Amino acid sequence: MLSLDNFLGTGGNLIVYMAILTNLLDLDPVQLIAYCGELGEKPFRAKQLQRWIHQFGASNFDVMTDLAKSLREKLSTRAMIVSPSIVSDHTSVDGTRKWLLDVGQGNAIETVFIPEENRGTLCISTQAGCAVNCRFCSTGKQGFSRNLSVSEIIGQLWMAEFELRRTKNIELGPKGERQITNVVMMGMGEPLLNYEPTVTALRLMLDDNAYGLSRRRVTLSTSGVVPMIDKLSQDCAVALAVSLHASNDVLRDGLVPLNKKYPLAELMAACKRYLEFAPRDFITFEYCMLEGVNDTDAHAHELVALVRDSNNSVSCKFNLIPFNPFPESGLLRSKNPRIKSFAQILMDAGIVTTIRKTRGDDIDAACGQLAGEVQDRTRVQERMEKMTEYQQKFGENFGRIVEIPS
Ligand code: SF4
Repeated sequence: MLSLDNFLGTGGNLIVYMAILTNLLDLDPVQLIAYCGELGEKPFRAKQLQRWIHQFGASNFDVMTDLAKSLREKLSTRAMIVSPSIVSDHTSVDGTRKWLLDVGQGNAIETVFIPEENRGTLCISTQAGCAVNCRFCSTGKQGFSRNLSVSEIIGQLWMAEFELRRTKNIELGPKGERQITNVVMMGMGEPLLNYEPTVTALRLMLDDNAYGLSRRRVTLSTSGVVPMIDKLSQDCAVALAVSLHASNDVLRDGLVPLNKKYPLAELMAACKRYLEFAPRDFITFEYCMLEGVNDTDAHAHELVALVRDSNNSVSCKFNLIPFNPFPESGLLRSKNPRIKSFAQILMDAGIVTTIRKTRGDDIDAACGQLAGEVQDRTRVQERMEKMTEYQQKFGENFGRIVEIPS
């Protein structure tokens, strides 16, 4: 039987061979049925195959013993199951685990697992880099390289779920304890600017023969691509988070440049429309707390007015994110008492508000630090050197996140 091993060691031949193999991680349930049809197989074979891939983490057709030998042989010469390869794998003292994954041509992306008492959340990336260039985001500062394919997006969940199980010696398959119970698309990239692969990956996350996650447990975070928010509501309405970060258009134009194209009134109207289809009855607004920029009492009151606008009142929660400073941003994190006062104004107005506890700070996995390594892998080192310099200048807490009890 032919397998990838037959081609290892032949240099360029391996690349040519891989290019003609279909990566089954790229296919959603319907596409997999069609693919099996092309091989002369019945639809139930696609379901079996899908379970082997997404529930047992199989990458070798030989282990799929309930598939006919002839089918396994066919698959091994025409298909593969390959996720981006792991460049590095770090676990923080608080249990947060971060993988750096190679997506080719000098691009790498980051995937972060955040364990909590009753759940495990995976934060995944949808693009290598990001073109939106939000002022407070280290990913944006590195520019945009390319969109990720379906296999590169779902491959992060596939890799992480089964790596976690292997590490903890947990049985593979649906009987083993699931490690990832929630997925957030909040890593590198703007998911709605890589729409089709993102939605295909979402469908796999929700499929009962794959990960079977409920729509409430999968959250897509967008900076506000209005037409695509509407499209998502029709195609695959998962929970929605919006990176808001400002209470008026002038401020948001400077922080989230996409606002110039889709200003706040349009964004709020899109959020309201989305709620008719959303699995939760609120939108989560993310708000990065930037000292002296967007964190005054006046801003908080303006936010209340924005979401309570009589024409576009949006049922929502706020998640206040203490900014993780990085040298190139020229921004600082709001002080803890300021964040608390800001939160109090929102809560006094009856809006559920949380202050995000930052996790994985010691492995650079905290929010806004998912910089990945786009093109130039020396930049993380550079950034860390600069951080040391800034800490010497501004005090040892520069760039560190202090947990704020909520
Ligand atoms: S915050 Fe999100 S949308 Fe903005 S630059 Fe960063 S990754 Fe892109």
